[in-house]
Amino acid sequence: MEHTKCLIIGSGPAGYTAAIYASRANLSPIEYSGMQPGGQLTQTTEVENFPGYPQGVDGNQMMMDLREQAERFGADIRDGSIVKVDFSKAPYICTAEDGTDIEADTVIIATGASAKYLGLDDERKYNGQGVSACATCDGFFYRKKTVAVVGGGDTACEDALYLSGLAKKVYLIVRKPFLRASKVMQQRVMERENIEILFEHNTIGLFGENGVEGAHLVKRKGEADEKLVDIAIDGFFLAIGHQPNTEIFKEWLDTDEVGYLKKIDGTPKTKIPGIFVAGDCADPVYRQAISAAGSGCQAAIEAERFLMNQ
Ligand code: NDP
Repeated sequence: MEHTKCLIIGSGPAGYTAAIYASRANLSPIEYSGMQPGGQLTQTTEVENFPGYPQGVDGNQMMMDLREQAERFGADIRDGSIVKVDFSKAPYICTAEDGTDIEADTVIIATGASAKYLGLDDERKYNGQGVSACATCDGFFYRKKTVAVVGGGDTACEDALYLSGLAKKVYLIVRKPFLRASKVMQQRVMERENIEILFEHNTIGLFGENGVEGAHLVKRKGEADEKLVDIAIDGFFLAIGHQPNTEIFKEWLDTDEVGYLKKIDGTPKTKIPGIFVAGDCADPVYRQAISAAGSGCQAAIEAERFLMNQ
C-alpha cells in the first residue's frame, strides 16, 4: 500500500493544474492520468481561446506542457486509471488498474467528461477532419462555410447560434419534431436567418473525399413517408450532451441526474471531507479548458488547507 497526501485522478487542464499547485505546496501528489492522458483537449487541433497563447496552441502540446510543468515541481504522474475507490473512511483507498492500492489523505477528482457521439463509423473516420464536438473550440475554422449541428437541447442551440456568427449557413439537425431547449434559446435560433432547422431528421452517415463534404440524413425515420436527404456541409458538430466520467464515485458522492458530481456551492468541496472535485466532471455549464484549470487550482488550494487544519 502506497501513501500520499494528495491523489489526483485525471489529467486534463483541471488535473494537471491541481498537480502544479499541489506539488508547489509540497504535497508530493500522485496523479493518475486516466485512459486518455491530457483529456479532451488532445482531441482538438488548435486551442485559440486559452489566455497566454496569442498564436493559439496545439491541444496536445498544451497538455504536454502542463504535464511537464507539474513534473518539474515533483508531481508523480502515472499512466493508467483508478478503477475503484473506497471513501468510507480516511485515509481513502483508491485502486489503480494494475492493482496498486493508494492510501490518500486527500483526493482531487478531475476525471472530465466525454462528449456523446452518435456512434457512426464516419464520426471516427472524419474525426479532426470536419467532425467536432466543440463548437467553441473549432467553430473558427468554418468561417463563411456551411456546417451542421446535431441536437435539440440548449447546447445545440447555443452552438448553432455561435456558429451562425461565423459560418455562412448552419443546419440544426433535430431528431424530434420540436426542440428541447429553453424557450428563449428556441426563439433566438428561429429568428436567426442563416440557421435552418431540420426537424425529424437523423444522420446516418457522412461523406467527402478530403474531410467532410456532406451528410446523409433520413427524414421521418420509420414512418411511411420516410425519405433520404443529403446535405452539403463542411463541418459536422455534435451537441447531443456530455457524459461525465464519474461512474466509480457514484457509490460515495452525490451526482445530478446526468452524473455530474455535486460540490458544495461555490467551492470544490464535496460532502466527504478531503475529497475535492475539479473540471468538467463537476461542471455541466462552462466546460472550458480555462475554467477547468481554474477549478484545479481551487481544489489543490483547498486540499492544502484541509491538510493544514488536520
Ligand atoms: P440535453 O440532454 O438537454 O439535450 C440533448 C439533445 O440531443 C436533445 O435534443 C436530444 O434529443 C439530442 N440527442 C441525444 N441523443 C441523440 C441522438 N443519438 N441522435 C440525435 N439527437 C440526440 O443536453 P445539452 O447538452 O443540450 O444540455 C445539458 C444541460 O445543460 C441541460 O440542462 C441544458 O439546459 C444545460 N445547458 C444550458 C445552457 C444555457 O442555459 N445557456 C447552455 C447549454 C446547456 P431528444 O430531445 O430527442 O432527446
